[in-house]
Amino acid sequence: MRSKTFRGGIHPSEFKHLTEHKIIEKACIPERVIVPLQQHIGAPTECIIEKDTHVKAGQPLSKAIKLISVPVHASISGLVKSIEFHPNPLGTKSLAVTIEHDGSDDSTFTEQDPDINNMDPDILLKKIKTAGIAGMGGASFPTHVKLTPPSDKKINTLLINGVECEPFLTADHRLMLEKSDEILKGIHILTRILRVRHTIIGIEKNKPDAIQLMQKKTKRLKKISVIPLPVKYPQGGEKQLIQAALNRQVPSGGLPMDVECVVQNVGTVFAVYEAIYFNKPLIERVVTVTGPGITEPKNILARIGTPFKDLIEFCGGYTPTASKILNGGPMMGIAQVTDDVPVVKGTSGILVLDQLSSKIPEESTCISCARCVDICPMKLMPNRIASYIEHNRIEDAEKYGLLDCIECGSCTYICPAKRHLVHYIKFGKMLYNERRVSS
Ligand code: SF4
Ligand code: SF4
Repeated sequence: MRSKTFRGGIHPSEFKHLTEHKIIEKACIPERVIVPLQQHIGAPTECIIEKDTHVKAGQPLSKAIKLISVPVHASISGLVKSIEFHPNPLGTKSLAVTIEHDGSDDSTFTEQDPDINNMDPDILLKKIKTAGIAGMGGASFPTHVKLTPPSDKKINTLLINGVECEPFLTADHRLMLEKSDEILKGIHILTRILRVRHTIIGIEKNKPDAIQLMQKKTKRLKKISVIPLPVKYPQGGEKQLIQAALNRQVPSGGLPMDVECVVQNVGTVFAVYEAIYFNKPLIERVVTVTGPGITEPKNILARIGTPFKDLIEFCGGYTPTASKILNGGPMMGIAQVTDDVPVVKGTSGILVLDQLSSKIPEESTCISCARCVDICPMKLMPNRIASYIEHNRIEDAEKYGLLDCIECGSCTYICPAKRHLVHYIKFGKMLYNERRVSS
Protein backbone atom coordinates (compact mmCIF):
# COMPACT_ATOMS: atom_id res chain seq x y z
CA MET A 1 0.00 0.00 0.00
CA ARG A 2 1.30 3.47 -0.91
CA SER A 3 2.63 5.35 2.13
CA LYS A 4 1.82 8.88 0.77
CA THR A 5 4.38 10.24 3.17
CA PHE A 6 8.02 9.87 4.09
CA ARG A 7 9.72 9.08 7.32
CA GLY A 8 10.39 11.97 9.72
CA GLY A 9 9.85 15.60 8.80
CA ILE A 10 8.44 18.59 10.63
CA HIS A 11 5.56 21.07 10.46
CA PRO A 12 6.95 24.61 10.66
CA SER A 13 4.54 27.59 10.45
CA GLU A 14 3.83 28.23 6.79
CA PHE A 15 3.36 32.02 6.44
CA LYS A 16 2.21 31.46 2.86
CA HIS A 17 -0.87 33.63 3.38
CA LEU A 18 1.31 36.70 2.72
CA THR A 19 1.49 35.94 -1.03
CA GLU A 20 -0.46 32.79 -1.94
CA HIS A 21 -3.42 34.76 -3.32
CA LYS A 22 -1.35 37.39 -5.09
CA ILE A 23 -1.06 37.05 -8.87
CA ILE A 24 2.39 37.07 -10.42
CA GLU A 25 3.39 40.65 -11.26
CA LYS A 26 5.90 41.44 -13.95
CA ALA A 27 8.80 43.51 -12.59
CA CYS A 28 10.02 46.53 -14.57
CA ILE A 29 13.10 45.84 -16.66
CA PRO A 30 15.99 46.75 -14.34
CA GLU A 31 18.49 49.48 -15.22
CA ARG A 32 21.25 46.92 -14.91
CA VAL A 33 21.52 43.17 -14.44
CA ILE A 34 24.42 41.20 -13.01
CA VAL A 35 24.45 37.76 -14.63
CA PRO A 36 26.78 35.24 -12.94
CA LEU A 37 28.45 32.97 -15.50
CA GLN A 38 27.78 29.92 -13.36
CA GLN A 39 24.35 29.47 -11.83
CA HIS A 40 24.14 25.67 -11.91
CA ILE A 41 25.70 22.66 -10.22
CA GLY A 42 28.49 21.36 -12.43
CA ALA A 43 31.33 22.63 -14.58
CA PRO A 44 31.79 26.39 -15.08
CA THR A 45 30.92 27.97 -18.42
CA GLU A 46 33.24 29.90 -20.70
CA CYS A 47 32.52 33.59 -21.31
CA ILE A 48 31.98 34.36 -25.02
CA ILE A 49 31.18 38.06 -24.77
CA GLU A 50 33.41 41.12 -24.48
CA LYS A 51 33.07 44.34 -22.55
CA ASP A 52 31.30 47.17 -24.44
CA THR A 53 29.41 44.71 -26.67
CA HIS A 54 25.73 45.38 -27.27
CA VAL A 55 23.54 42.36 -26.50
CA LYS A 56 19.87 41.47 -26.93
CA ALA A 57 17.80 39.64 -24.32
CA GLY A 58 18.31 35.93 -24.92
CA GLN A 59 21.78 36.25 -26.45
CA PRO A 60 24.26 33.73 -24.99
CA LEU A 61 26.93 35.24 -22.72
CA SER A 62 28.78 31.97 -22.14
CA LYS A 63 29.04 28.46 -23.49
CA ALA A 64 29.03 25.12 -21.72
CA ILE A 65 32.24 23.23 -22.39
CA LYS A 66 31.47 20.14 -20.31
CA LEU A 67 28.43 17.85 -20.21
CA ILE A 68 27.25 18.88 -16.74
CA SER A 69 26.97 22.55 -17.52
CA VAL A 70 24.57 25.03 -19.13
CA PRO A 71 25.15 28.42 -20.77
CA VAL A 72 23.84 31.71 -19.40
CA HIS A 73 22.16 34.41 -21.46
CA ALA A 74 21.64 38.16 -21.43
CA SER A 75 18.36 38.81 -19.65
CA ILE A 76 17.93 42.35 -20.94
CA SER A 77 18.93 44.31 -24.03
CA GLY A 78 21.86 46.64 -23.43
CA LEU A 79 25.58 47.25 -23.18
CA VAL A 80 28.04 44.94 -21.42
CA LYS A 81 29.62 47.28 -18.87
CA SER A 82 31.89 44.83 -17.07
CA ILE A 83 32.88 41.19 -16.67
CA GLU A 84 34.21 40.86 -13.16
CA PHE A 85 33.75 39.12 -9.83
CA HIS A 86 30.59 40.10 -8.00
CA PRO A 87 28.82 38.79 -4.85
CA ASN A 88 26.23 36.15 -5.67
CA PRO A 89 23.27 34.93 -3.58
CA LEU A 90 25.05 31.68 -2.72
CA GLY A 91 27.24 33.70 -0.36
CA THR A 92 30.38 33.73 -2.53
CA LYS A 93 31.78 35.86 -5.36
CA SER A 94 31.72 34.71 -8.95
CA LEU A 95 32.50 36.02 -12.41
CA ALA A 96 29.48 37.92 -13.68
CA VAL A 97 28.52 40.00 -16.72
CA THR A 98 26.94 43.36 -15.89
CA ILE A 99 24.63 44.73 -18.58
CA GLU A 100 23.26 48.27 -18.61
CA HIS A 101 19.74 48.49 -20.03
CA ASP A 102 19.39 50.39 -23.35
CA GLY A 103 15.72 51.23 -22.87
CA SER A 104 14.47 48.67 -25.40
CA ASP A 105 13.31 45.09 -24.99
CA ASP A 106 14.96 43.62 -28.10
CA SER A 107 15.28 39.89 -27.87
CA THR A 108 16.44 36.87 -29.82
CA PHE A 109 13.34 34.76 -29.32
CA THR A 110 10.05 34.42 -31.21
CA GLU A 111 6.95 32.27 -31.03
CA GLN A 112 7.29 28.83 -32.66
CA ASP A 113 4.69 26.32 -33.76
CA PRO A 114 6.30 23.05 -32.70
CA ASP A 115 4.76 19.68 -33.57
CA ILE A 116 5.98 17.95 -30.40
CA ASN A 117 4.73 14.48 -31.36
CA ASN A 118 6.79 14.51 -34.52
CA MET A 119 9.89 16.25 -33.21
CA ASP A 120 13.06 14.27 -32.68
CA PRO A 121 13.54 13.93 -28.87
CA ASP A 122 17.25 14.68 -29.35
CA ILE A 123 16.39 18.03 -30.91
CA LEU A 124 14.08 18.83 -27.98
CA LEU A 125 16.87 17.90 -25.59
CA LYS A 126 19.38 20.07 -27.43
CA LYS A 127 17.04 23.04 -27.27
CA ILE A 128 16.64 22.56 -23.51
CA LYS A 129 20.41 22.53 -23.06
CA THR A 130 20.92 25.54 -25.35
CA ALA A 131 18.27 27.43 -23.35
CA GLY A 132 20.44 27.05 -20.25
CA ILE A 133 17.77 25.33 -18.18
CA ALA A 134 18.81 24.12 -14.73
CA GLY A 135 16.51 22.90 -11.92
CA MET A 136 14.52 25.87 -10.64
CA GLY A 137 13.45 24.37 -7.33
CA GLY A 138 16.77 25.51 -5.88
CA ALA A 139 19.16 22.67 -6.75
CA SER A 140 20.02 24.12 -10.20
CA PHE A 141 21.21 20.82 -11.68
CA PRO A 142 21.36 20.96 -15.52
CA THR A 143 17.99 19.70 -16.78
CA HIS A 144 19.26 18.05 -19.98
CA VAL A 145 21.53 15.79 -17.89
CA LYS A 146 18.59 14.60 -15.76
CA LEU A 147 16.73 13.89 -18.97
CA THR A 148 19.48 11.66 -20.37
CA PRO A 149 19.91 8.76 -17.93
CA PRO A 150 22.47 6.10 -18.90
CA SER A 151 21.09 3.34 -21.15
CA ASP A 152 21.09 0.79 -18.31
CA LYS A 153 18.71 2.98 -16.27
CA LYS A 154 15.10 2.51 -17.29
CA ILE A 155 12.74 5.35 -16.38
CA ASN A 156 9.04 4.60 -16.01
CA THR A 157 7.76 7.67 -14.15
CA LEU A 158 8.12 11.41 -14.51
CA LEU A 159 7.42 13.02 -11.15
CA ILE A 160 6.52 16.71 -11.20
CA ASN A 161 7.39 18.54 -8.03
CA GLY A 162 4.65 21.02 -7.14
CA VAL A 163 5.19 20.59 -3.41
CA GLU A 164 6.86 23.90 -2.49
CA CYS A 165 7.21 22.88 1.16
CA GLU A 166 9.52 25.72 2.18
CA PRO A 167 7.60 28.22 4.40
CA PHE A 168 6.75 31.65 2.93
CA LEU A 169 7.36 30.66 -0.72
CA THR A 170 4.46 30.62 -3.19
CA ALA A 171 6.11 31.04 -6.61
CA ASP A 172 5.40 27.45 -7.75
CA HIS A 173 1.88 27.57 -6.33
CA ARG A 174 1.06 30.68 -8.38
CA LEU A 175 2.73 29.25 -11.47
CA MET A 176 0.49 26.15 -11.28
CA LEU A 177 -2.59 28.39 -10.95
CA GLU A 178 -1.65 30.86 -13.66
CA LYS A 179 0.26 28.69 -16.16
CA SER A 180 -1.34 25.26 -15.90
CA ASP A 181 -1.77 24.76 -19.67
CA GLU A 182 1.83 25.73 -20.30
CA ILE A 183 3.02 23.34 -17.57
CA LEU A 184 1.04 20.52 -19.19
CA LYS A 185 2.65 21.31 -22.56
CA GLY A 186 6.04 21.21 -20.81
CA ILE A 187 5.17 17.80 -19.34
CA HIS A 188 4.26 16.56 -22.82
CA ILE A 189 7.72 17.60 -24.06
CA LEU A 190 9.45 15.84 -21.16
CA THR A 191 7.49 12.61 -21.63
CA ARG A 192 8.50 12.60 -25.32
CA ILE A 193 12.14 12.89 -24.33
CA LEU A 194 12.01 10.34 -21.52
CA ARG A 195 9.57 8.04 -23.34
CA VAL A 196 7.76 7.46 -20.05
CA ARG A 197 4.18 6.28 -19.89
CA HIS A 198 3.23 7.77 -16.55
CA THR A 199 3.51 11.24 -15.02
CA ILE A 200 2.61 12.13 -11.44
CA ILE A 201 2.17 15.71 -10.26
CA GLY A 202 2.73 15.89 -6.48
CA ILE A 203 1.14 18.87 -4.72
CA GLU A 204 0.75 19.42 -0.96
CA LYS A 205 -2.78 19.76 0.39
CA ASN A 206 -2.18 23.35 1.50
CA LYS A 207 -2.68 24.30 -2.18
CA PRO A 208 -6.22 22.97 -2.74
CA ASP A 209 -6.89 25.39 -5.61
CA ALA A 210 -3.81 24.17 -7.51
CA ILE A 211 -4.75 20.52 -6.87
CA GLN A 212 -8.28 21.14 -8.09
CA LEU A 213 -7.17 22.99 -11.21
CA MET A 214 -4.52 20.45 -12.20
CA GLN A 215 -6.97 17.58 -11.57
CA LYS A 216 -9.55 19.29 -13.77
CA LYS A 217 -7.04 19.92 -16.56
CA THR A 218 -5.73 16.35 -16.49
CA LYS A 219 -9.10 14.62 -16.08
CA ARG A 220 -9.04 13.20 -19.59
CA LEU A 221 -5.31 12.56 -19.69
CA LYS A 222 -4.95 8.96 -18.60
CA LYS A 223 -1.17 9.11 -18.35
CA ILE A 224 -1.09 11.97 -15.83
CA SER A 225 -2.22 11.74 -12.21
CA VAL A 226 -2.30 14.50 -9.63
CA ILE A 227 -1.49 13.31 -6.11
CA PRO A 228 -2.47 15.49 -3.12
CA LEU A 229 0.13 15.00 -0.40
CA PRO A 230 -0.09 15.65 3.35
CA VAL A 231 1.70 18.86 4.32
CA LYS A 232 5.12 18.06 5.74
CA TYR A 233 8.57 19.58 5.43
CA PRO A 234 10.88 18.68 3.54
CA GLN A 235 8.54 16.90 1.13
CA GLY A 236 9.94 18.94 -1.77
CA GLY A 237 13.25 17.07 -1.44
CA GLU A 238 13.54 14.66 -4.36
CA LYS A 239 14.03 11.58 -2.22
CA GLN A 240 11.20 12.49 0.15
CA LEU A 241 8.81 13.21 -2.72
CA ILE A 242 9.66 9.90 -4.42
CA GLN A 243 9.03 8.08 -1.15
CA ALA A 244 5.74 9.89 -0.57
CA ALA A 245 4.33 9.75 -4.09
CA LEU A 246 5.72 6.42 -5.35
CA ASN A 247 6.71 4.56 -2.20
CA ARG A 248 10.17 3.96 -3.66
CA GLN A 249 13.35 4.47 -1.68
CA VAL A 250 16.36 6.04 -3.37
CA PRO A 251 19.44 4.26 -1.97
CA SER A 252 22.12 6.12 0.00
CA GLY A 253 24.32 7.98 -2.50
CA GLY A 254 21.86 7.08 -5.26
CA LEU A 255 19.73 9.14 -7.63
CA PRO A 256 16.02 9.10 -8.60
CA MET A 257 16.97 7.22 -11.80
CA ASP A 258 18.03 4.30 -9.53
CA VAL A 259 14.34 3.84 -8.77
CA GLU A 260 13.23 4.40 -12.39
CA CYS A 261 12.11 7.96 -11.86
CA VAL A 262 12.99 11.52 -12.96
CA VAL A 263 11.84 14.49 -10.86
CA GLN A 264 11.31 17.97 -12.33
CA ASN A 265 10.10 21.09 -10.54
CA VAL A 266 7.05 22.90 -12.01
CA GLY A 267 9.14 26.03 -12.64
CA THR A 268 11.60 23.98 -14.66
CA VAL A 269 8.75 22.44 -16.66
CA PHE A 270 7.47 25.92 -17.48
CA ALA A 271 10.99 26.96 -18.61
CA VAL A 272 11.07 23.87 -20.88
CA TYR A 273 7.76 24.94 -22.41
CA GLU A 274 9.13 28.43 -23.12
CA ALA A 275 12.34 27.04 -24.61
CA ILE A 276 10.44 24.88 -27.10
CA TYR A 277 7.47 27.12 -27.89
CA PHE A 278 9.38 30.43 -28.00
CA ASN A 279 13.04 29.47 -28.42
CA LYS A 280 13.38 31.42 -25.20
CA PRO A 281 16.36 30.79 -22.93
CA LEU A 282 16.00 30.84 -19.16
CA ILE A 283 16.24 34.59 -18.62
CA GLU A 284 13.45 35.17 -16.12
CA ARG A 285 11.70 33.35 -13.29
CA VAL A 286 9.02 33.81 -10.64
CA VAL A 287 10.38 34.96 -7.28
CA THR A 288 8.37 35.32 -4.06
CA VAL A 289 9.55 38.46 -2.26
CA THR A 290 8.14 38.23 1.23
CA GLY A 291 8.55 38.25 4.98
CA PRO A 292 7.89 40.64 7.88
CA GLY A 293 10.68 42.90 6.59
CA ILE A 294 8.90 43.61 3.26
CA THR A 295 6.24 46.33 2.99
CA GLU A 296 4.09 44.63 0.35
CA PRO A 297 5.03 40.97 -0.26
CA LYS A 298 4.52 39.80 -3.87
CA ASN A 299 5.15 37.08 -6.43
CA ILE A 300 7.22 38.66 -9.17
CA LEU A 301 8.32 37.62 -12.65
CA ALA A 302 11.89 38.93 -12.60
CA ARG A 303 14.75 38.91 -15.08
CA ILE A 304 17.73 36.79 -14.07
CA GLY A 305 20.44 39.16 -12.83
CA THR A 306 18.02 41.68 -11.27
CA PRO A 307 19.53 42.96 -8.01
CA PHE A 308 17.53 41.90 -4.94
CA LYS A 309 17.23 45.55 -3.94
CA ASP A 310 15.28 46.38 -7.14
CA LEU A 311 12.70 43.69 -6.36
CA ILE A 312 12.50 44.79 -2.73
CA GLU A 313 11.83 48.36 -3.93
CA PHE A 314 9.15 46.98 -6.28
CA CYS A 315 7.50 45.60 -3.13
CA GLY A 316 7.42 49.01 -1.42
CA GLY A 317 10.83 48.59 0.24
CA TYR A 318 11.82 47.43 3.70
CA THR A 319 9.68 47.75 6.81
CA PRO A 320 11.30 49.76 9.68
CA THR A 321 12.10 46.51 11.52
CA ALA A 322 13.66 44.67 8.55
CA SER A 323 16.79 42.91 9.64
CA LYS A 324 18.01 39.94 7.63
CA ILE A 325 17.81 39.02 3.92
CA LEU A 326 17.73 35.40 2.78
CA ASN A 327 18.03 33.91 -0.69
CA GLY A 328 15.25 31.32 -0.37
CA GLY A 329 13.04 30.41 2.54
CA PRO A 330 13.69 30.26 6.29
CA MET A 331 14.64 26.55 6.35
CA MET A 332 17.20 26.30 3.55
CA GLY A 333 17.75 29.94 2.58
CA ILE A 334 21.18 31.57 2.59
CA ALA A 335 21.73 34.80 4.55
CA GLN A 336 22.97 37.74 2.47
CA VAL A 337 25.43 40.45 3.46
CA THR A 338 24.17 42.85 0.79
CA ASP A 339 21.00 43.38 -1.25
CA ASP A 340 23.12 44.07 -4.33
CA VAL A 341 23.18 40.38 -5.25
CA PRO A 342 21.37 39.17 -8.37
CA VAL A 343 18.44 36.82 -8.85
CA VAL A 344 19.82 33.58 -10.30
CA LYS A 345 18.12 30.56 -11.89
CA GLY A 346 17.65 28.91 -8.48
CA THR A 347 16.23 31.96 -6.66
CA SER A 348 12.70 30.95 -5.77
CA GLY A 349 12.31 33.52 -3.03
CA ILE A 350 13.77 36.54 -1.27
CA LEU A 351 12.82 36.51 2.38
CA VAL A 352 13.37 39.53 4.61
CA LEU A 353 13.03 38.79 8.32
CA ASP A 354 12.53 41.36 11.06
CA GLN A 355 14.61 41.79 14.19
CA LEU A 356 12.48 39.36 16.17
CA SER A 357 12.35 36.55 13.64
CA SER A 358 16.01 36.76 12.66
CA LYS A 359 17.38 36.36 16.17
CA ILE A 360 19.67 33.32 16.35
CA PRO A 361 19.08 31.51 19.66
CA GLU A 362 22.03 30.66 21.83
CA GLU A 363 23.12 27.01 21.85
CA SER A 364 23.16 24.91 24.97
CA THR A 365 24.37 21.39 25.66
CA CYS A 366 22.70 18.45 23.91
CA ILE A 367 20.28 16.72 26.27
CA SER A 368 20.22 13.51 24.22
CA CYS A 369 16.49 13.71 23.63
CA ALA A 370 16.88 12.16 20.14
CA ARG A 371 14.22 14.41 18.64
CA CYS A 372 16.63 15.29 15.81
CA VAL A 373 17.04 11.57 15.07
CA ASP A 374 13.29 10.97 15.07
CA ILE A 375 12.54 13.69 12.53
CA CYS A 376 15.57 13.40 10.20
CA PRO A 377 14.05 12.51 6.80
CA MET A 378 17.33 10.86 5.77
CA LYS A 379 17.36 8.56 8.82
CA LEU A 380 20.58 10.09 10.12
CA MET A 381 21.77 10.88 13.63
CA PRO A 382 22.34 14.65 13.36
CA ASN A 383 23.44 14.92 17.02
CA ARG A 384 26.18 12.33 16.51
CA ILE A 385 27.35 13.74 13.16
CA ALA A 386 27.52 17.30 14.56
CA SER A 387 29.45 16.10 17.59
CA TYR A 388 32.02 14.33 15.40
CA ILE A 389 32.45 17.49 13.33
CA GLU A 390 32.91 19.60 16.47
CA HIS A 391 35.72 17.25 17.46
CA ASN A 392 37.21 17.32 13.96
CA ARG A 393 36.44 13.62 13.39
CA ILE A 394 35.27 14.10 9.82
CA GLU A 395 35.81 10.47 8.79
CA ASP A 396 33.53 9.31 11.59
CA ALA A 397 30.94 11.90 10.57
CA GLU A 398 31.14 10.54 7.02
CA LYS A 399 30.59 6.99 8.28
CA TYR A 400 27.44 8.25 9.99
CA GLY A 401 26.05 9.63 6.71
CA LEU A 402 27.40 13.20 6.58
CA LEU A 403 27.14 13.19 2.78
CA ASP A 404 23.55 11.91 2.78
CA CYS A 405 22.35 14.99 4.66
CA ILE A 406 20.15 17.14 2.41
CA GLU A 407 20.69 20.20 4.64
CA CYS A 408 16.95 20.61 5.18
CA GLY A 409 17.47 22.19 8.61
CA SER A 410 14.73 20.10 10.28
CA CYS A 411 17.10 18.94 13.03
CA THR A 412 18.11 22.49 13.94
CA TYR A 413 14.45 23.52 13.93
CA ILE A 414 13.36 20.78 16.34
CA CYS A 415 16.31 20.81 18.75
CA PRO A 416 15.28 22.02 22.25
CA ALA A 417 18.92 22.85 23.03
CA LYS A 418 18.99 25.09 19.93
CA ARG A 419 22.05 23.28 18.61
CA HIS A 420 23.11 24.69 15.23
CA LEU A 421 23.21 21.18 13.82
CA VAL A 422 22.88 21.96 10.12
CA HIS A 423 25.65 24.56 10.34
CA TYR A 424 28.02 21.96 11.79
CA ILE A 425 27.01 19.57 9.03
CA LYS A 426 27.59 22.12 6.26
CA PHE A 427 30.96 22.95 7.80
CA GLY A 428 31.76 19.24 8.01
CA LYS A 429 30.97 18.75 4.34
CA MET A 430 33.24 21.65 3.45
CA LEU A 431 36.11 20.12 5.46
CA TYR A 432 35.44 16.72 3.90
CA ASN A 433 35.64 18.18 0.36
CA GLU A 434 38.80 20.16 1.15
CA ARG A 435 40.51 17.03 2.49
CA ARG A 436 39.43 14.99 -0.52
CA VAL A 437 40.86 17.57 -2.94
CA SER A 438 44.20 17.78 -1.08
CA SER A 439 44.64 14.02 -0.61
S1 SF4 B 1 20.78 15.80 9.40
FE1 SF4 B 1 20.49 16.79 7.45
S2 SF4 B 1 18.82 15.67 6.48
FE2 SF4 B 1 18.76 15.18 8.67
S3 SF4 B 1 17.35 16.69 9.54
FE3 SF4 B 1 19.40 17.53 9.76
S4 SF4 B 1 19.68 18.80 7.96
FE4 SF4 B 1 17.92 17.45 7.51
S1 SF4 C 1 17.48 17.36 19.33
FE1 SF4 C 1 19.16 18.56 20.14
S2 SF4 C 1 19.21 18.06 22.30
FE2 SF4 C 1 17.98 16.47 21.32
S3 SF4 C 1 19.47 14.86 20.77
FE3 SF4 C 1 19.34 16.17 19.02
S4 SF4 C 1 21.01 17.61 19.31
FE4 SF4 C 1 20.63 16.71 21.29
